[in-house]
Amino acid sequence: MLDLKNILYAAVVGDALGVPVEFAKRDTYYVDKMIGNGTWEKAPGSWSDDTSFTLPLMENLVEHGNYEQLMQKFEDYMFRNKYTPDGQAFGIGQGCAKSIRNWSINHYPALECGDPSVYANGNGALMRLAPLAIHLRNVEQTKYRLELTRNHTCLTHRHPRSVMASFIYLEILHFLLNGENLTEILQKLPDHLKNNLQNYPEELNEFKKFSAIFQHGFKQTNREDIKSTGYVVDTLHACLWCVLNTDSIDEAILLAVNLGDDTDTVASITASLASCLHQNDCVNPEWVGQLRNKKLLDKIIDQFVEMEIKNSD
Ligand SMILES: [Mg+2]
Repeated sequence: MLDLKNILYAAVVGDALGVPVEFAKRDTYYVDKMIGNGTWEKAPGSWSDDTSFTLPLMENLVEHGNYEQLMQKFEDYMFRNKYTPDGQAFGIGQGCAKSIRNWSINHYPALECGDPSVYANGNGALMRLAPLAIHLRNVEQTKYRLELTRNHTCLTHRHPRSVMASFIYLEILHFLLNGENLTEILQKLPDHLKNNLQNYPEELNEFKKFSAIFQHGFKQTNREDIKSTGYVVDTLHACLWCVLNTDSIDEAILLAVNLGDDTDTVASITASLASCLHQNDCVNPEWVGQLRNKKLLDKIIDQFVEMEIKNSD
């Protein structure tokens, strides 16, 4: 049975395991437990912007809020430290920070807050969107799923490459949540996207940036050829490579955390993919127990899961 709570906590665990070694060079460390200090000098179990942007999304879906209301919640995080483990926002990427300034200072409409520049293709939209895939898991109309995915991405990242990354990631999650096999999903996805993206020619044109993922033998790519930076193209490749090369949620998370560079985001997205794939596995409960501000996590995750279960009855 689909354990939505496990999926949502796995992502927070990936984030928290990665925080102390964010930006560290590969193979200069090895993480296999919840440690503290490091890059941000935080206590063990501290989670970062990845989770702090995901929590408002869940809350907004529960409240049936619109995009403007979601941007307001992002602003509450960045300027008022809401949705944080210890009352301090840290590690916000440039793309997300700029979009929030566009919202609160420049008063842009929510859907125009994301930077449309080719230089603004960080992984800051991808990192928060797993709950949207959960919310849309029973929606059969592909075009509707893609439209919502696009809009949610554009709040912070408006370049078609970032939107394409979200299309790929959320459609993979969608099919995994519906019990499909990952290898088969990767085989069918290029045609599936081409058939459903006629109205998105600019996004479709970016598909080539991700084509390696769908090539036979991608799983066998050498570790040194997998980049784990915050560039959305690198991130998506790294996360899928981690999931393809492991057999459990914990193993996938640790492989991701130890790639170096954008460790928290790569591990968090990897955790979402791995937990949707391995539905009979659960993320290490000891790590979940070590997460900081568990009260806030429990509150928002419980409300979201409760709504999702009610909706699917
Ligand atoms: Mg982070």
